[in-house]
Amino acid sequence: MEKTQMAMLKLVLLGPPGAGKGTQAKSLSEELGLAHISTGDILRQAIQLDSALGKEAKHYVDKGELVPDGLVTKMVIERLKRPDAKRGFILDGFPRNIKQAEDLDSFFAQEGYSDYKVIYLDATEKTIIQRLGGRMICKKCQAVFHMTNMPPKEGSRCDFCKSELYQRQDDREETVKYRLSVYAQATKPVVEYYARQGRIMEFDADRESSVVLKEMLQGL
Ligand code: AMP
Repeated sequence: MEKTQMAMLKLVLLGPPGAGKGTQAKSLSEELGLAHISTGDILRQAIQLDSALGKEAKHYVDKGELVPDGLVTKMVIERLKRPDAKRGFILDGFPRNIKQAEDLDSFFAQEGYSDYKVIYLDATEKTIIQRLGGRMICKKCQAVFHMTNMPPKEGSRCDFCKSELYQRQDDREETVKYRLSVYAQATKPVVEYYARQGRIMEFDADRESSVVLKEMLQGL
Protein backbone atom coordinates (compact mmCIF):
# COMPACT_ATOMS: atom_id res chain seq x y z
CA MET A 1 0.00 0.00 0.00
CA GLU A 2 1.24 3.52 -0.81
CA LYS A 3 2.19 5.96 1.96
CA THR A 4 -0.69 8.34 1.10
CA GLN A 5 -3.22 5.50 1.28
CA MET A 6 -1.67 4.30 4.56
CA ALA A 7 -2.22 7.75 6.07
CA MET A 8 -5.95 7.42 5.41
CA LEU A 9 -6.24 4.11 7.22
CA LYS A 10 -9.08 3.57 9.64
CA LEU A 11 -8.15 0.95 12.19
CA VAL A 12 -9.85 -0.61 15.20
CA LEU A 13 -7.54 -2.42 17.63
CA LEU A 14 -9.02 -5.19 19.76
CA GLY A 15 -7.58 -7.54 22.36
CA PRO A 16 -7.57 -8.38 26.06
CA PRO A 17 -6.03 -6.02 28.62
CA GLY A 18 -2.26 -6.50 28.55
CA ALA A 19 -2.13 -7.64 24.90
CA GLY A 20 -0.14 -4.50 24.09
CA LYS A 21 -2.88 -2.43 22.43
CA GLY A 22 -1.63 0.89 23.82
CA THR A 23 2.00 0.25 22.85
CA GLN A 24 1.13 -1.02 19.36
CA ALA A 25 -1.43 1.72 18.71
CA LYS A 26 1.18 4.35 19.58
CA SER A 27 3.77 2.78 17.25
CA LEU A 28 1.28 2.30 14.40
CA SER A 29 0.01 5.86 14.73
CA GLU A 30 3.59 7.19 14.54
CA GLU A 31 4.57 4.92 11.62
CA LEU A 32 1.43 5.61 9.60
CA GLY A 33 0.56 9.17 10.62
CA LEU A 34 -2.76 8.23 12.21
CA ALA A 35 -4.61 9.86 15.12
CA HIS A 36 -4.30 7.56 18.15
CA ILE A 37 -7.62 7.51 19.99
CA SER A 38 -7.36 5.62 23.28
CA THR A 39 -10.56 5.64 25.33
CA GLY A 40 -8.64 4.52 28.44
CA ASP A 41 -6.16 7.43 28.09
CA ILE A 42 -8.94 9.97 27.52
CA LEU A 43 -10.82 8.70 30.59
CA ARG A 44 -7.71 8.64 32.81
CA GLN A 45 -6.87 12.19 31.76
CA ALA A 46 -10.43 13.33 32.54
CA ILE A 47 -10.13 11.67 35.97
CA GLN A 48 -6.84 13.43 36.67
CA LEU A 49 -8.33 16.77 35.65
CA ASP A 50 -11.41 16.00 37.73
CA SER A 51 -13.65 17.14 34.85
CA ALA A 52 -17.38 16.31 34.72
CA LEU A 53 -16.58 13.24 32.57
CA GLY A 54 -13.79 12.24 34.98
CA LYS A 55 -16.10 12.46 37.97
CA GLU A 56 -18.64 10.18 36.27
CA ALA A 57 -16.05 7.70 34.98
CA LYS A 58 -13.74 7.31 38.01
CA HIS A 59 -15.80 4.81 39.92
CA TYR A 60 -16.05 2.45 36.91
CA VAL A 61 -12.42 2.78 35.79
CA ASP A 62 -11.01 2.12 39.28
CA LYS A 63 -13.07 -1.04 39.58
CA GLY A 64 -12.29 -2.29 36.07
CA GLU A 65 -15.91 -1.99 34.99
CA LEU A 66 -17.04 -0.60 31.66
CA VAL A 67 -17.99 3.08 31.73
CA PRO A 68 -21.62 3.45 30.49
CA ASP A 69 -21.93 3.24 26.69
CA GLY A 70 -23.64 6.63 26.29
CA LEU A 71 -20.70 8.49 27.84
CA VAL A 72 -17.93 6.64 26.01
CA THR A 73 -19.58 6.49 22.58
CA LYS A 74 -20.32 10.22 22.61
CA MET A 75 -16.73 10.93 23.62
CA VAL A 76 -15.33 8.75 20.80
CA ILE A 77 -17.61 10.16 18.12
CA GLU A 78 -16.70 13.73 19.08
CA ARG A 79 -13.03 12.78 18.84
CA LEU A 80 -13.50 11.05 15.46
CA LYS A 81 -15.07 14.21 14.03
CA ARG A 82 -11.90 16.26 14.63
CA PRO A 83 -9.86 17.10 11.47
CA ASP A 84 -6.81 14.99 12.36
CA ALA A 85 -8.98 11.87 12.75
CA LYS A 86 -10.60 12.52 9.39
CA ARG A 87 -7.15 11.91 7.88
CA GLY A 88 -6.94 8.39 9.42
CA PHE A 89 -7.11 6.97 12.94
CA ILE A 90 -6.50 4.03 15.17
CA LEU A 91 -9.11 3.28 17.83
CA ASP A 92 -7.60 1.68 20.93
CA GLY A 93 -10.00 0.35 23.59
CA PHE A 94 -13.22 0.95 21.67
CA PRO A 95 -15.60 -0.76 21.00
CA ARG A 96 -15.74 -2.88 24.16
CA ASN A 97 -19.18 -4.46 23.67
CA ILE A 98 -21.67 -5.20 20.88
CA LYS A 99 -23.75 -2.06 21.49
CA GLN A 100 -20.64 0.12 21.05
CA ALA A 101 -19.66 -1.83 17.89
CA GLU A 102 -23.12 -1.31 16.39
CA ASP A 103 -23.16 2.40 17.25
CA LEU A 104 -19.70 2.75 15.74
CA ASP A 105 -20.88 1.02 12.58
CA SER A 106 -23.80 3.46 12.31
CA PHE A 107 -21.39 6.39 12.62
CA PHE A 108 -19.00 4.83 10.07
CA ALA A 109 -21.90 4.26 7.63
CA GLN A 110 -22.93 7.90 8.02
CA GLU A 111 -19.35 9.04 7.27
CA GLY A 112 -18.92 6.59 4.36
CA TYR A 113 -16.15 4.65 6.16
CA SER A 114 -16.86 1.18 4.76
CA ASP A 115 -13.20 0.20 4.40
CA TYR A 116 -12.04 0.15 8.02
CA LYS A 117 -9.92 -2.75 9.27
CA VAL A 118 -9.85 -4.54 12.62
CA ILE A 119 -6.62 -5.76 14.20
CA TYR A 120 -7.03 -8.40 16.89
CA LEU A 121 -4.11 -8.92 19.27
CA ASP A 122 -4.47 -12.19 21.12
CA ALA A 123 -2.46 -13.02 24.27
CA THR A 124 -2.52 -15.82 26.86
CA GLU A 125 -3.56 -15.21 30.46
CA LYS A 126 0.01 -15.94 31.63
CA THR A 127 1.40 -13.10 29.46
CA ILE A 128 -1.39 -10.73 30.48
CA ILE A 129 -0.85 -11.20 34.22
CA GLN A 130 2.92 -10.82 33.86
CA ARG A 131 2.62 -7.65 31.74
CA LEU A 132 -0.01 -5.88 33.81
CA GLY A 133 1.64 -6.78 37.13
CA GLY A 134 4.78 -4.76 36.37
CA ARG A 135 3.25 -1.96 34.29
CA MET A 136 3.97 1.64 35.30
CA ILE A 137 2.46 4.73 33.65
CA CYS A 138 3.69 8.30 33.50
CA LYS A 139 1.34 10.67 35.37
CA LYS A 140 1.92 13.41 32.81
CA CYS A 141 2.53 11.99 29.31
CA GLN A 142 0.99 8.52 29.85
CA ALA A 143 4.13 6.75 28.53
CA VAL A 144 4.14 3.08 29.53
CA PHE A 145 7.02 1.23 31.22
CA HIS A 146 7.44 -2.23 32.73
CA MET A 147 9.52 -2.90 35.82
CA THR A 148 11.24 -5.93 34.23
CA ASN A 149 10.51 -5.83 30.46
CA MET A 150 11.05 -2.09 29.91
CA PRO A 151 12.33 -0.44 33.10
CA PRO A 152 12.61 3.36 33.28
CA LYS A 153 16.20 4.67 33.26
CA GLU A 154 15.86 6.64 36.53
CA GLY A 155 14.02 4.89 39.36
CA SER A 156 10.34 5.62 39.00
CA ARG A 157 10.60 8.68 36.71
CA CYS A 158 9.47 8.88 33.10
CA ASP A 159 12.33 8.69 30.55
CA PHE A 160 10.65 11.32 28.37
CA CYS A 161 9.21 14.03 30.61
CA LYS A 162 10.76 13.03 33.99
CA SER A 163 7.37 13.01 35.72
CA GLU A 164 6.50 10.45 38.35
CA LEU A 165 5.33 6.96 37.32
CA TYR A 166 2.43 5.18 38.99
CA GLN A 167 0.72 1.82 38.93
CA ARG A 168 -2.83 2.01 37.59
CA GLN A 169 -5.30 1.13 40.31
CA ASP A 170 -6.98 -1.27 37.87
CA ASP A 171 -3.66 -3.12 37.27
CA ARG A 172 -3.79 -4.61 40.79
CA GLU A 173 -4.14 -8.36 40.70
CA GLU A 174 -7.76 -8.64 41.90
CA THR A 175 -8.90 -5.97 39.43
CA VAL A 176 -6.97 -7.56 36.54
CA LYS A 177 -8.89 -10.82 37.09
CA TYR A 178 -12.16 -8.87 37.06
CA ARG A 179 -11.17 -6.99 33.87
CA LEU A 180 -10.42 -10.32 32.19
CA SER A 181 -13.91 -11.57 33.04
CA VAL A 182 -15.42 -8.33 31.67
CA TYR A 183 -13.35 -8.86 28.52
CA ALA A 184 -14.52 -12.48 28.11
CA GLN A 185 -18.15 -11.57 28.63
CA ALA A 186 -18.55 -8.20 26.88
CA THR A 187 -15.63 -7.70 24.47
CA LYS A 188 -14.84 -11.17 23.10
CA PRO A 189 -18.21 -11.20 21.25
CA VAL A 190 -17.02 -8.04 19.45
CA VAL A 191 -14.15 -10.07 17.95
CA GLU A 192 -16.73 -12.54 16.61
CA TYR A 193 -18.93 -9.65 15.37
CA TYR A 194 -16.06 -8.34 13.22
CA ALA A 195 -14.98 -11.84 12.18
CA ARG A 196 -18.48 -12.31 10.72
CA GLN A 197 -17.92 -9.10 8.72
CA GLY A 198 -14.61 -10.56 7.47
CA ARG A 199 -12.56 -7.66 8.85
CA ILE A 200 -10.30 -9.32 11.41
CA MET A 201 -6.51 -9.49 11.05
CA GLU A 202 -5.26 -11.60 13.97
CA PHE A 203 -1.77 -11.47 15.53
CA ASP A 204 -0.16 -13.49 18.30
CA ALA A 205 0.68 -10.81 20.88
CA ASP A 206 2.53 -13.10 23.30
CA ARG A 207 5.63 -12.22 21.30
CA GLU A 208 7.92 -9.23 21.66
CA SER A 209 6.23 -5.97 20.63
CA SER A 210 8.70 -5.13 17.81
CA VAL A 211 8.04 -8.52 16.15
CA VAL A 212 4.27 -8.02 16.34
CA LEU A 213 4.56 -4.45 15.00
CA LYS A 214 6.60 -5.59 12.00
CA GLU A 215 4.07 -8.29 11.18
CA MET A 216 1.15 -5.84 11.48
CA LEU A 217 2.82 -3.34 9.17
CA GLN A 218 3.43 -6.09 6.62
CA GLY A 219 -0.17 -7.26 6.95
CA LEU A 220 -1.52 -3.77 6.30
P1 AMP B 1 -7.86 0.61 29.03
O1 AMP B 1 -6.83 1.67 29.24
O2 AMP B 1 -8.27 0.44 27.59
O3 AMP B 1 -7.48 -0.70 29.67
O4 AMP B 1 -9.19 1.11 29.77
C1 AMP B 1 -9.19 1.37 31.16
C2 AMP B 1 -10.62 1.45 31.66
O5 AMP B 1 -11.30 2.53 31.03
C3 AMP B 1 -11.50 0.23 31.41
O6 AMP B 1 -11.30 -0.80 32.36
C4 AMP B 1 -12.89 0.86 31.52
O7 AMP B 1 -13.23 1.15 32.86
C5 AMP B 1 -12.68 2.19 30.82
N1 AMP B 1 -12.91 2.08 29.37
C6 AMP B 1 -11.99 2.22 28.38
N2 AMP B 1 -12.56 2.05 27.18
C7 AMP B 1 -13.87 1.82 27.41
C8 AMP B 1 -14.99 1.55 26.57
N3 AMP B 1 -14.87 1.47 25.23
N4 AMP B 1 -16.20 1.35 27.16
C9 AMP B 1 -16.35 1.42 28.49
N5 AMP B 1 -15.33 1.65 29.33
C10 AMP B 1 -14.10 1.85 28.81
